[in-house]
Amino acid sequence: MRSLAQFSYLEPGSIRHIYLYHHSQGHKALFGVFIPSQRKASIFILDTVRSNQMPNLSTLYGVERTALLEKTTEDLLPPRSTPSSDPGPVGLWWYWSRSSLVVLTPLVYGDPDPEERRGPTLIAVQSNWELRRLAAGMGVLEEFPVVPVHVADDISYNVLDWQRHGARRMIRHYLNLDSCLSQAFDMARYYHLPVGNLPQDVSIFGSDLFLARHLRKHNHLLWMSPTTRPDLGGREADDSRLVMESDDRVSVEINAPGCYSTVCVELDLQSLAVNTILQSQHVNDMEGGASLGVSFDVIQQASLEDMMSGNQGAVAVASYDETALCSNTFRVLKSMVVGWVREITQYHNVYADNQVMHFYRWLRSPSSLLYDPALHRTLHNMMKKVFLQLVAEFKRLGSTVIYGNFNTIILGTKKRRTDDAIGYVEYITNSIHSREIFHSLSISFSRCWDFLLWMDPANHGGVKGKLPSGALCGEDAALLKKKKRKSGEDAEEDGSEDEEEEEAGGEEEDLDGEVDEVEDLIESNWNIMQYLPQTASCQKYFVMIVSAYIAAVYHSMKEELQRSAPGATPVKRRAGGSQATQQAAEELGALPGMISFSQEYVANELTQSFFTITQKIQRKLAATRSVTQPSEMFPTLPGSHLPLNNPALEFIKYVCQVLSLDANITNQVNKLKRDLLRLVDVGEFSEHAQFRDPCNSYILPEVICHSCNFCRDLDLCKDPTLAQDGSVLPQWFCSNCRAQYETEFIETSLVEALQKKLMSFTLQDLACVKCKGVKEANMPIYCRCAGSFDLTFTTKSFSEQIKVFRSIAAHYNMVFLEETIDWLLTMSPQINLSVH
Ligand SMILES: [Zn+2]
Ligand SMILES: [Zn+2]
Repeated sequence: MRSLAQFSYLEPGSIRHIYLYHHSQGHKALFGVFIPSQRKASIFILDTVRSNQMPNLSTLYGVERTALLEKTTEDLLPPRSTPSSDPGPVGLWWYWSRSSLVVLTPLVYGDPDPEERRGPTLIAVQSNWELRRLAAGMGVLEEFPVVPVHVADDISYNVLDWQRHGARRMIRHYLNLDSCLSQAFDMARYYHLPVGNLPQDVSIFGSDLFLARHLRKHNHLLWMSPTTRPDLGGREADDSRLVMESDDRVSVEINAPGCYSTVCVELDLQSLAVNTILQSQHVNDMEGGASLGVSFDVIQQASLEDMMSGNQGAVAVASYDETALCSNTFRVLKSMVVGWVREITQYHNVYADNQVMHFYRWLRSPSSLLYDPALHRTLHNMMKKVFLQLVAEFKRLGSTVIYGNFNTIILGTKKRRTDDAIGYVEYITNSIHSREIFHSLSISFSRCWDFLLWMDPANHGGVKGKLPSGALCGEDAALLKKKKRKSGEDAEEDGSEDEEEEEAGGEEEDLDGEVDEVEDLIESNWNIMQYLPQTASCQKYFVMIVSAYIAAVYHSMKEELQRSAPGATPVKRRAGGSQATQQAAEELGALPGMISFSQEYVANELTQSFFTITQKIQRKLAATRSVTQPSEMFPTLPGSHLPLNNPALEFIKYVCQVLSLDANITNQVNKLKRDLLRLVDVGEFSEHAQFRDPCNSYILPEVICHSCNFCRDLDLCKDPTLAQDGSVLPQWFCSNCRAQYETEFIETSLVEALQKKLMSFTLQDLACVKCKGVKEANMPIYCRCAGSFDLTFTTKSFSEQIKVFRSIAAHYNMVFLEETIDWLLTMSPQINLSVH
């Protein structure tokens, strides 16, 4: 391929353009044809009634142009309007079957430039229709090169003065067109792609394009396919393993429930995938493979001689080892990413940066043309190894990892003051960055707590700590994050800017209010609470008891700290302390005075109020007679799966479960629970007295936000949006930028996941019940040891998973998913049987 140094492509000024705007909704539509060389525009309106509510377009144009001028420079905009030559709205009326078409030719701006009239011209089309559909109705589009302008335009025409809104939006788009087009030309130059061929999702297509070029350079065949299976010359049709869900795809999660009374910091991890692929050599090194010259993940290529003599079967590995099979491709993939990174560091190329940011989305998206599940699996496995190394590194540097997944790590810093904790975290992130294997990983602060009661990401509470505004680890991290936000905002400038301002405002408030009450800083985020009845204020009492406990312990901790000498750090104290138990307690950050305080608090104050509240609940909401039937008092949420029927009992169980997170008060809580259970007539060791998470959920792995590109595992049931009345709304939001995920996308992913589960259920191994050996031959009915075979993925667990899916489908109105489940159950009645 020739470089741009040899050939120029559509230099600025070499081509003129005409802008065609089209937006239609129902029976309403707005067309605009702008011809910059003639300084003229014609606007067409299609409405259900014969009305012309268009504002004076010249004035509108002038106003919008002046507004935009504050943000950009004069030469990026079309010339200003000349109101004198405005002919005023000219109404021409045509009648269609149900709608009227109004034609206006009112907008004239600047002086027509006779020099500019002729020359090569393209049509920039912005339409909410597919280009092909539009072109079918407009023959003239065939005669010009057409450049689609991919700008999302979410405007509603269902308002009375839609003509005015639509016109203003159209003029704004037109004023932005020049910068839009010049960006498109830049992109076309970078991708070496004709500007009219730029697709909507250019980063995904760009990655396909780059990889295809790299592969061809390496004489590799391409496996391009629009389906979820790569085109492997027909073999993929037999290889259903490619589309089955494998256990090792599940993300790694580290969770250490407990009570942490030192500062805890939440860190955001980004670009783990890119970091991993860049350092993949080191990942193999760590396993000790490189020193011996063998690695389990790499196979040796068949030599040319073997190939000629047809003897390559001898070296061919079993074809189901995807990792080994794609090791060559992986190397090509790596060279592609390395190329981008070089362009970023040497030339600060924004488009290469964009490719890197969207790399993982491309790799895992089945809709990308060169999607290969094996490549994704390989990289995912490596990411796991790097992630575990990272966790080990954090531990080695002396912090506790409370929670960790590929996006977030929550650390217990063992520091008393926020400033100390931030200094410490800065120190350890620098030290982590200095290790080559974590070189391009970006780590940034997101939140911190002074005191944290942690069960899991959906169930935690604590006292929020105040983070100084400038606290971000490493300049690179901050820059990258900003850039990421920026790239997302390009599409919808108006909306997101306001949000950002709001956010900034909120932060300032936090900083100003230095004398905040502790009660205001308490954060309670308990998913299990939502499964308690709302009547008799069960939920309120739950928050009350838990928050009161957190506040009391936090106060006692502050007092204790003030009493002790200001210079004495816990580390020094630990060196002096000899008792093993005390040392263990201090590991979690509890001071001796605090422990005795919380023990006493639970034994006296808390016990009393807990008893009163439980009695109140019991008096108001008696348990239903039948133990197996769920009661109507409890809310039914997407995750509900237990037959809950005794409000007082569940209340006791949930509160005690949360309190027992604090290891210092285990004995007191056990005693309390025993006494309370006696109050509701349930035996201490009865099955009903055991805590079980009332929320059964499904985690959709690696959901990628379309607006900010943030990748996270979405817990569909524990992360719901609740309406005012406590009902669940079918929507989820990105935890990074608060944009809403598309529900259709989530539904299709769920259907896909279900089909993958079905595939792995169908293709599973059989194992002998006696010797646990996996069945090797196809035909035998019994194992060699005379034991019978059984499923490794049982029907029961499969039907339980289907139950979760069905509950999600019912709560979130997912018709397609529901249909798929119904079909599956009719086709395989044996699964159906165990559901009911
Ligand atoms: Zn987002
Ligand atoms: Zn056996």
